[in-house]
Amino acid sequence: MRHSPDSIRFINARVYRSADDLRPARSLMTRKGVIHWIGDEADAPKADQTVDMQGATIIPGLTDAHVHLFAIANERQQISLNGTNVRSVADGLSQISEAARKVPAGQWIRAVGFDENNLAEHRYPTRDEIDAVAPDHPVIIRRFCGHTAILNSAALHLLRIDDGVSDPPSGSFGRDAAGRLDGSAKESAAEAIFRAIPPIDPAAMAASLRATIGDSIRMGLTAAVEAAVGFTSGFDDEFAVWNLLRQDASFAPIRLGFMYQLDPKDAAARGLTPRRDPDWQGMTLKFFADGIVGARTAAVSKPFADTGGTGFFMRDEDDLERVIVEAHLDGWQTATHCVGDRASARVISAFEKAERALPGQKPRHRIEHYFVPPDGGLARMKALEALIVTQPSFLTRMRRSILGAFGSDAGKMYPARSAIDAGVTWVGSSDAPTGHASPWIGMANAVDRGASLAAPIGLGEALTRRQAIGSYIHGGAFAMKQEDWRGTLAPGMAADFVALDRDPFDASTDLAKTCVLMTVLRGVVRHDTLMAGQVATMEAEVH
Ligand SMILES: [Zn+2]
Repeated sequence: MRHSPDSIRFINARVYRSADDLRPARSLMTRKGVIHWIGDEADAPKADQTVDMQGATIIPGLTDAHVHLFAIANERQQISLNGTNVRSVADGLSQISEAARKVPAGQWIRAVGFDENNLAEHRYPTRDEIDAVAPDHPVIIRRFCGHTAILNSAALHLLRIDDGVSDPPSGSFGRDAAGRLDGSAKESAAEAIFRAIPPIDPAAMAASLRATIGDSIRMGLTAAVEAAVGFTSGFDDEFAVWNLLRQDASFAPIRLGFMYQLDPKDAAARGLTPRRDPDWQGMTLKFFADGIVGARTAAVSKPFADTGGTGFFMRDEDDLERVIVEAHLDGWQTATHCVGDRASARVISAFEKAERALPGQKPRHRIEHYFVPPDGGLARMKALEALIVTQPSFLTRMRRSILGAFGSDAGKMYPARSAIDAGVTWVGSSDAPTGHASPWIGMANAVDRGASLAAPIGLGEALTRRQAIGSYIHGGAFAMKQEDWRGTLAPGMAADFVALDRDPFDASTDLAKTCVLMTVLRGVVRHDTLMAGQVATMEAEVH
């Protein structure tokens, strides 16, 4: 690793200290990982190195307060067979054939995103067709729904599934006219297969996480909250991979926060207690209250406009309340997935019960999504000093679902402006890979409510640029209880900032297309297109 200078002076810039102060300074100096000075060039103290920013705009580094880095890294390890690159059975097979040329024989080839509706033939590839392109590799294709698997002969053989297998209760194996397995398995048969295949090698996953975090840095993120450990392949497997990464001395991560998808007693059994470490913070337990809008499983009080259903809770309501109160008593921040208004209302009641049991802790309990606002919810959230952490890019990604499920009420969904006006801390985030990974698209959607795609949804809930950008810089740091040392640029604060190709506060610029020219983390240049290698401070491991 090359040596980083102790102090760097960044001159000829437009430096915004925060979204609340739009009087820019011209330059900024870092020293030993913190901001040493901000002001005009003429007054700047001496530094080991000076960088001409060529007029670029500098703002504090961004936080993605709810992202599934592990799930993104996991997807990187698999072939994508979605409709954009696969239009026929032959297209799908050629992707597998290409993977078979790269992957050593005997290793699993995993494909995701398959949907036969995208194919000209409207059918699955057969076991024999996959055998023909990958005879020496076990291959598993996961249909996008997650309820169907398609395997080749090597995979069936390794899993000891042969033509004599009988269908399990509520599941089935596909067969040809002669009764021979065709490679497909559905429902409980598929679930058993997904559980039986070996997890991706932890070292490969750790490398994939490094690459994922590298992408985050290029998008301008200097911090992120993983939401949650245990979401993709179980807590212990995922936690082991994160620890592998943590032990890698050559890897300097962004400021990471972790939600643990564990009940308080399961966290305690693993010796986990809330920890506020600036780089590897684990102070949050994650719970799921209800389902989602797409499947109409969110717990709502007014029936969905199209299906007439009202969704359901994912776990017993009293049990959910119990774990939230227990977590509060144990000193955890809680983060609960609530999409429907019934879910949010029930979780707010749990927060109130927790507060009565142990008042004054200011845990900043979080509701994730807060999609369908419950009546009177914002006033109760404000009294609790609880946070809404939500995903503006869903306004475009889930546009059809929102309009279908809520009809004429669609404009009330995903309240943002009314939350801020009610004095509730509203924090934007991506929820990638479900939402769009780019924080710039998230901020743009918070401002335009999805107008770039078609008519905006609920323009009355649109934020100003200052509110949207502020939520990703100061708001994200606040959600992580780190606002006292990062998220604004001032002497003594962390030297975590980004340089941009445009002024994001200027309403005439396209916020969604903002390019990050440079990312500085702990006073070290971690991403740099502006200077094209002129700055000799890049950490060696960034690629
Ligand atoms: Zn999520």
